[in-house]
Amino acid sequence: MFKKIVIVDNDTRFTESLKKAIAQEKKRSVTTHNFKVERLNDAIYQYDLYVIRLDALTLNLIQELSEREKFIILTTNYDTPEVREKILSLHVTDYIITNSKTSIDFVCDVINKLECNDKRNVLVVDDSKLVLAQISLILKTQNINYMLCTNGVEALEHLSNPTSKVDLVITDYVMPKMDGYELVKKIRAKFSFDALPVLILSGTEDTYMISRFFKAGANDYIPKPFIKEEFIGRISNALATVNMFNEIKEMAMTDQLTGLHNRLYFYDAGVKIFEGAMRANNLVSIAMIDIDDFKSINDTYGHEVGDKALIHVANTIQRSLRRSDVFVRFGGEEFVILLPNTPLQQALKVTRKVCSLVRKTPLVLDDGKELFLTVSIGVTSQIDTIDKMLERADHYMYAAKRSGKDRVYTQEE
Ligand code: GH3
Ligand code: MG
Ligand code: MG
Repeated sequence: MFKKIVIVDNDTRFTESLKKAIAQEKKRSVTTHNFKVERLNDAIYQYDLYVIRLDALTLNLIQELSEREKFIILTTNYDTPEVREKILSLHVTDYIITNSKTSIDFVCDVINKLECNDKRNVLVVDDSKLVLAQISLILKTQNINYMLCTNGVEALEHLSNPTSKVDLVITDYVMPKMDGYELVKKIRAKFSFDALPVLILSGTEDTYMISRFFKAGANDYIPKPFIKEEFIGRISNALATVNMFNEIKEMAMTDQLTGLHNRLYFYDAGVKIFEGAMRANNLVSIAMIDIDDFKSINDTYGHEVGDKALIHVANTIQRSLRRSDVFVRFGGEEFVILLPNTPLQQALKVTRKVCSLVRKTPLVLDDGKELFLTVSIGVTSQIDTIDKMLERADHYMYAAKRSGKDRVYTQEE
């Protein structure tokens, strides 16, 4: 997040409204300078984001700030080809035409986007050092992190490294070793269209080739030589799509009531962890947890209290787990824990702790009354398919119910 923002403008009314809007959203610190009234001294270089009016009097400052790689958003009332030409020759994040009511919102949107871009990683693949330098410069003005590769083979190596985080690939078409077309096909064999977008840069005039790029799985095509604004627009759109996809995916994998992940997540993330553990010959345990006599809680106190009790039990269980444990609401009043690197004895220890913590931690109702709950847990550590392990844990959980509830059961000791 930008800590120190400055507005350099002589239009006091605009400046005051803009300052209020920028500061309001995230309690940012915003300073203002009127360049027609005040002399700007060296203190002007201390900020990390500048919103500056384009003027003969600010041009030098803009150039100096851009050399210092500061983030600059320009404002102007003039939407003419000359002004646009001038702006595009400067290394700035964006420019906003301030002759409409929505211009203040636009400035705020650009600031938000810049802050969000800080978490984005783009892999740029091009054999031309000049193009790489040109693109790096543009990405820098957008606060986007980037990695550079000079051919497809290098790019694939980078993508296959489990620690590398890439949100978007921008690749040239004609390159030595592996061209952009082959690279897209190889990327699509591993990553879906929504999970990792690929933009192809190419000077080809062959329209058939362009459609082949799309058939191979490219998300967009940027003709070379490109116009800076168009380039930024296409990247922003691609990154916005990834964002939306991730948000929707996270929403679909989260249980709205407890905030825990759900069954869908368990199969998505859990299966990966499980397979990794199987490969490394590590022990994995699975615990199936079911709240005892939950129906009677709903029947006695109503659904609202029932919901609160579910949240309460979820929080109580979470407190006894490690960060690496996968804990989800599996359905109704059932939860599942996947414990990586955990042999049976340790899993029994953890789940017995869970059982006793739930028993000892009552839910305090609005009228001060304490509501005590218990859970029954089935535990398995016998490595098998994830479905078979779940089935066994469920089977043991029912055995725990039959033998009196409020306990942990396994048949594997
Ligand atoms: P047992 O000890 O054998 O597990 O008995 P139980 O009453 O807990 O089990 P049963 O399967 O008969 O009832 C589960 C109840 O959980 C029924 C259902 O209405 C309630 N339930 C499931 N999801 C929710 C929820 O999201 N909110 C509330 N309030 N209740 C829920
Ligand atoms: Mg139950
Ligand atoms: Mg149940």
